[in-house]
Amino acid sequence: MRLNWMRRLLCAALLLGLLTAGAAEPATVSGMTETNYGMDYIPDDPWPFNITNGDREVPRIAITVDDCYDRNWVREIFQLCQSLGVRCTFYPVGDQLKQDALKPGDVELWREIAASDCEIGTHTHHHLSMESMTAYNVRLYVKYPQAVLDQVLGYHYPIQTVRPPFGAVGKTNAQVQNIRTNLNKVGYHHTVLWDVSQTNPDLAIDDVRNGSILLYHARHKDFVCLQQLIPQLLEKGFEMVTVTELLGIEKLPVSENIFTWNAKDWE
Ligand SMILES: [Zn+2]
Repeated sequence: MRLNWMRRLLCAALLLGLLTAGAAEPATVSGMTETNYGMDYIPDDPWPFNITNGDREVPRIAITVDDCYDRNWVREIFQLCQSLGVRCTFYPVGDQLKQDALKPGDVELWREIAASDCEIGTHTHHHLSMESMTAYNVRLYVKYPQAVLDQVLGYHYPIQTVRPPFGAVGKTNAQVQNIRTNLNKVGYHHTVLWDVSQTNPDLAIDDVRNGSILLYHARHKDFVCLQQLIPQLLEKGFEMVTVTELLGIEKLPVSENIFTWNAKDWE
């Protein structure tokens, strides 16, 4: 126990030192030595690499919304959550955040979500399965959305969790190792999967347990489901939190240091 506390203190002191030192650096940085892009500060990590749920003893759950191709439904779901006082986590595909994919109102929407008590994660750049990717492409496609998100927001918003496309986390040992090793290299120590994927609210209500992670997409039928489901979940006493809250991961602060992808730093 004493060793753990010493490690915590040491990590905190190191992090504080790095953050203070970072304040004087140029506004644009890149590279994986930036401690606040990683999650190495978690000294005693209780979670498996692939996470399907949080603590089964606590009535807290996380609603997640993937892909985000249709921003009208992103907006509707976000506003629904805000109006009901619950939080959710969006996993947009990175290329939807690129300048040429943005539609009027999108920038304001993402800025509003980023500034709210909801959360944004990475769902890779092109929604390709990581299972057949080269080592470099795992790093590139998982991390690149950080660069486009920061560009949209105009500041650095640390993306702290990964939702793998199709929930694909490796069928063979080689694939599993490739995904894990390279997620680690870009600062991620987990994938966030789910244990509830049900758009019929009458069925979903029975699937949700303490710690559940619910998978939804930014679509009309998912919005309609959530409209019915969230009030019922509140009634049953569930608290709806972000993924980092569910997992007890410390939320990293935003900063001016916009992340840019420099290929040579990640080879
Ligand atoms: Zn997806």
